[in-house]
Amino acid sequence: MPLPPGEPIQALARALASAMATEDTSLVRRGGEALLAALSTFYRVPVPALRVLGVRPHKVTRGVCTYQLFGDYTPSTQRIRVWMRTAIRERVSSPKALLNTLLHEFCHHLDSARLAMPQSYHTRGFFWRIDHLYHLALATPPAARRPLRWVKRGSVWAVDWNRLRGA
Ligand SMILES: [Zn+2]
Repeated sequence: MPLPPGEPIQALARALASAMATEDTSLVRRGGEALLAALSTFYRVPVPALRVLGVRPHKVTRGVCTYQLFGDYTPSTQRIRVWMRTAIRERVSSPKALLNTLLHEFCHHLDSARLAMPQSYHTRGFFWRIDHLYHLALATPPAARRPLRWVKRGSVWAVDWNRLRGA
């Protein structure tokens, strides 16, 4: 996948992180919209709509948080939603987590808008695309990038975030 020039994307990612520090939902939305607009221009797709919401929808089973939703994408309306507060503590999430969620949903938008795929799958290629955009936006030096590690859940490959963080 071709990547956009780094510096403008990095500046937009920094602005998004600053907006998150204010904890102001509308500032975060504007920051996210600016980043999505730049990416959409580069990839020649319509700019998706963005909603920024509060506490992540989640499920608690026997006192343990077993599920939380970071974001989603609706192909029919080309709308991305991201939640900016963590499930249990209800704190503003880390800027990197929100950036990763935003890029994840943008990649669903890319699949849907560019390839006219009604369904966008969590393939390994899909996660690699997010990872390339994520490190581009953060200007991670190549030597500091950790290779993605994989775990198979049923028939689906997923990134093994625990091993990635612990590696
Ligand atoms: Zn997804």
